[in-house]
Amino acid sequence: MSQRETDSIAFYGGEPTVRHDIFNILKAARENGYRRIKLFTNGRAFSDPHYLHRILSTGCSLFEIKLWASNPSLHDHITRVNGSFWETIQGVQNIAELPQEKFICIRIPVCRENVTDLENTVTTVLNFGINRIILSVYDYSIPFGSLLPRIANSLNISIFNRVWILTEGLPFCVMQGLEPHIGELLSGLTGLYERTFQHHNACVQCIFRELCPGAETRYLTQFGDREFFPVTASKYTENIKALHV
Ligand code: SF4
Repeated sequence: MSQRETDSIAFYGGEPTVRHDIFNILKAARENGYRRIKLFTNGRAFSDPHYLHRILSTGCSLFEIKLWASNPSLHDHITRVNGSFWETIQGVQNIAELPQEKFICIRIPVCRENVTDLENTVTTVLNFGINRIILSVYDYSIPFGSLLPRIANSLNISIFNRVWILTEGLPFCVMQGLEPHIGELLSGLTGLYERTFQHHNACVQCIFRELCPGAETRYLTQFGDREFFPVTASKYTENIKALHV
């Protein structure tokens, strides 16, 4: 930590809140000069206000909390932990009600089980005064024909409510017109490259081919590349290339 190059640090797992020494770890980060300390968590531990207070007293005020669904039956079915939905929701509510400065991001992992609930989940979390939503696509067994309308609806719901929303795992060509919501433009395109993405036929003519790693290999194997069309123009091209080339 003494050789840090930024004042930001993030802790994730597993689940960092199950560690008994998490308070000491967060305090050490603060004492070593980190000002932006982020915890990736399921948020369940924050349903206990005393626990939340102890975390906040370390100087940690940025939270990225995973929520899988809009209702307990689906959420707890996916997490396989009874009661986890209400614990997470209570945790988010407890943080949101705190008067001090904080940043709450809700991460919604998009999978086959919850894709039809996506808009409901976004609508649910908008009730809590959160700062950002991330729709993280990691299950490539969902055909884009089913997924993308729900992604677009979810983005629109959040945008209409003036809450910042981003996606992860979706290339430029399926996000045309929505490029400012591509999370990797902020988190770094190397995140995409680290996954198993590959170029396909449409990429040859695409203006983003040098930036974009292509589409996910398993998706291409299962569904082919018929749904992908090259981006030939985008009003965001110059801004994106200025950031990443
Ligand atoms: S390089 Fe390929 S996958 Fe990436 S945006 Fe262009 S067409 Fe889509």
